[in-house]
Formats: sequence, structure tokens, C-alpha cells
Amino acid sequence: MAQPFVENSTGIHNNEKTAEAIWKKCLVTVKETINTQSFKTWFEPIKPLKLEGDELSIEVPSQFFYEWLEEHYYQLIHDTLYQLLGSHIRLVYSVREEDVYNDQNLVLDDIGADNGLNNSLSQHGSDATPDQNRAKVYVAEFQKKPSPNISTMLNPRYTFDNFIKGDSNQFARAAGLAVANNPGGTSFNPLVVYGGVGLGKTHLIQALGNQALELHKDIRVCYVSSEKFTIEFVDAIQSDRVSDFSAYYRSVDLLIVDDIQFFGGKEKTQDNFFHTFNTLHQLGKQIVLSIDRPPKELRGLDERLISRFQWGLTADIQAPDLETRIAILRKKSADDGIEIPQEVIDFIAVNVTSNIRELEGCLISLLAKASLESKDINIDLARDVLQVVVSDIKSPISIEEIQRIVCEYFNIPDDLIRAKTRKQEVVNARQIAMYLVKEMTNSSLKTIGLHFGGRDHSTVIHSCQSVEEQLKVNQRFRDTVVQIKRKIEMSSGR
Ligand code: ADP
Ligand code: MG
Repeated sequence: MAQPFVENSTGIHNNEKTAEAIWKKCLVTVKETINTQSFKTWFEPIKPLKLEGDELSIEVPSQFFYEWLEEHYYQLIHDTLYQLLGSHIRLVYSVREEDVYNDQNLVLDDIGADNGLNNSLSQHGSDATPDQNRAKVYVAEFQKKPSPNISTMLNPRYTFDNFIKGDSNQFARAAGLAVANNPGGTSFNPLVVYGGVGLGKTHLIQALGNQALELHKDIRVCYVSSEKFTIEFVDAIQSDRVSDFSAYYRSVDLLIVDDIQFFGGKEKTQDNFFHTFNTLHQLGKQIVLSIDRPPKELRGLDERLISRFQWGLTADIQAPDLETRIAILRKKSADDGIEIPQEVIDFIAVNVTSNIRELEGCLISLLAKASLESKDINIDLARDVLQVVVSDIKSPISIEEIQRIVCEYFNIPDDLIRAKTRKQEVVNARQIAMYLVKEMTNSSLKTIGLHFGGRDHSTVIHSCQSVEEQLKVNQRFRDTVVQIKRKIEMSSGR
């Protein structure tokens, strides 16, 4: 299996072996790998304390922090440190004293009061170490082996399974799957995925790599960001190892290069990459690239390279629609084993519209806030979190609100819209209301039917179709619907 190309065997020089230097390098990788909000919440507050032999001590703000890190980032921290140091390391977490609490259920006692403990702390076989400062200390003894994907630089957390499909990404996703099934064997070579920041490019191309690896055991896969490729190339020039560098990247079967807009203006790196590209392509090897804008808007990128994109397929990822945003939030919270009320999910999905990373960021902040402040997850808490990122917070539109506004507009009592009556004006209002509910909320046909006096879903379909027909041919009708829609939008602060 391909080993990552690094300047020397450990990627780190002896004089850089201080706790701070190592932690700083570790953070660079962590930052590339996880969500910005997670990084801010869970990694920025950590302080490296000391490095003694193969023992690295870090200070974390609270017990909860330690537990969260161990549960969610154990493998990542382990792999990153392993990669940097080329050896196994004991990581010592020191919990800041003010946050140490005396919960009987804790696996560890306060170290100052007791020592020589040998409790089994977590599934990773950690144990206690005495510490002079009365801080609580945990030692994470890492497993003997790094995760299998370390040499490909793929993050196993990115899979097709947890990549939610929606209108915005289904084309790129289908292309990614096709390539993963048959790398180098489709006409999608190169596969170029483009889309704005935080829309899932890295997730998709890494999922592709992980899937290819799973399906084709002997395949050599390499994922690299163009930034990392550039740094390695510059290092290779300085250490006179350009031919090793080139040979390494030209020996893989599937090369995935992320964010190639960073190559802009870096002529020598681009030139090297261009030749790597050609060599691999000629050999029938698969190339997958991502960029954050349409190819024709790329600045400072070699025309020769851009013209190569036409050999393959360029697939874009758009901003997700409401339904997809809701599905993503549901999936993420379920994966974390946390139940979030549907109304809170809807509330976040309605407000965070442009970027999946931000959507996730809000969810993470919400969970962190709920845990750290021991609060319930509800709309109020979500509002607190959203206030930081959204300037103009909107409430989700309820079906009842749409019914109320439609009835007000036609001057009919609210309950008639749910009743059995077939009076023409009520039927008309009911159909418009159903249509608007379908347009403006995420409700299923079944739910809509239930809210309109228990009608079945075929009635809802029929109503919506009838409104759509009239919208096409009747200008006055169109004006009416637009006006009502505007009233609904205004009432929900849109
Ligand atoms: P980009 O590389 O385009 O900036 P990322 O791939 O880093 O975006 O995605 C940002 C975050 O959103 C990641 O945590 C990723 O897992 C998540 N994400 C993006 N698209 C999806 C999706 N379709 N389903 C689930 N999560 C997604
Ligand atoms: Mg990315």
C-alpha cells in the first residue's frame, strides 16, 4: 500500500520535538480533517503542556471535554500523532482544576486525594497517573496500530453511506460512485467536482477513495490537498528529492487532489502536477479533482491543465435544498446518538441555508451548549446558537399559519378549510392552502392531508395539480396566489 510521501521518515525534525511544535503540527491536520466549528469548540481550547519521551501532555478545560475528545476524536488524534512522530505515543489529558467535579460516577477519583489507581477508564485501556497539581489526569494508551487508511491519507469518516443524497448533489454523487466502482475504467477521467465552500466536495471525493479501496483491495489510492502537494513539492526541491516526489505520485492508481484552486499562481508546482496528471492518464489511472468554482473562473491555473478537464467529466454540487438540509441534520444527530426535537431541526434547516459545514457547525454548537450548560435542546437554545451565525432569524412556517392566512385572505372561518364542505369558495381556498403548504414547508403529502381534515394523499396531489394548472393559464389567479404567499412570508419574518 502506498506510504505517504514525507520529507523524512517521520515528517518532523528533532529540534521540533517540543510539545508545542508537535501539537501545532497535529492541529494543522486536525483542522483539515474536521469541521471548523468542531475544531474551534474542541481543539482550540486545548493547551499542550509537555513532551517527555513518548508521553505528550495536554490540558483540557473540563472532564466533559476529555470524554468528548476520546469518544469522537480518538482515532484522528492517534493517527495524526503517529504520522508526525512515527511512533506510538501516550497522550496525557490534564483536566483544568476549576472544572473538576466530584461525581461519584466518575471512573477516576481526584488524583490529589488518591493515587496509584488503576481504573480502567475507557475502551482504549487508559489509566490514571498521579499529578501534583490536583488536576484530574487521564492517559490514553493508543492502540498498537494506526488505522488502515493512514497511508492513503483518506479519512474513514467520509463515506457514501453518510453522504446524504439530494437534488443538489445527486449528479456528482452518481459520478463519484461510478468512478469508485471502476477507477480508470469509465469515461469520467478526470472526474472534476466543483462547488462552493462547505457543500461536500471533500466528503464526496474521499468517500470515492474509501469506496474504491473497499471494492478493489490492491488498489493504490492517494488523497492529497493541493496545499499539501505544494508544501511537499517545495520540501522536495529543497532536499533535492523531486524525482522521489514525482515517482511517488505517479505510482498510484487513484489520485485524488482536493481544492486545486490553490495551485493558482504556483507555476512550478502546477507544472509538476501537470506532468503527473499526464503520466497517470496515459497509464489509464484514475484522477479525481475538486475545485471551489467553475473551471472557467479559475485564475492563475495553467490553461493546459484546465483543457484536460474536458477529457473527463465536470460535476457540480449546489447548495442543498430544505429537504436535504433537514435530512443531513437528522442523520448527523442520529449518528451522534442525540435526539433533537423535529421543530429544532426544522428551525436550524430553515435558517442555515447556504453551507453544509455551517449547518453542521450549528448542530455541534447546539450540542456543546446543551451539554456544557446542562440545558435542554429546544428552539430557545437553538436561537442562541443561531444568533451568532445568522443575521435575520426566521421561524419555520407552520401548516396552521398558512391555513390561517389563506382563510383570512378569503374571509372564511378557519375550521371550514378542514371541514367536509364542498362549497366552491372553500374548495378553492383549501386547494390553494394545500398547494402553499407543499411549496413552503417540508410536510409530506400524508401530513398535509391529515391537517386538512384527514384527507388522503391523492386528494392533496389532485389539489396541487389543479392549482398548478390554473397558475399556468389564469393571470388573476396567479396574482392572488403570489399575494397570499407574500403575506405568509411576511408573517414568518422572511
Ligand atoms: P467542501 O470540501 O465542499 O468545502 P466538505 O466536504 O468539507 O465541503 O463538507 C463540509 C461538511 O459537510 C463535512 O463535515 C461533510 O461531512 C458535510 N457534508 C457535506 N455534504 C454532505 C452530505 N451530502 N451529507 C452529509 N454530510 C455532508
Ligand atoms: Mg474541502
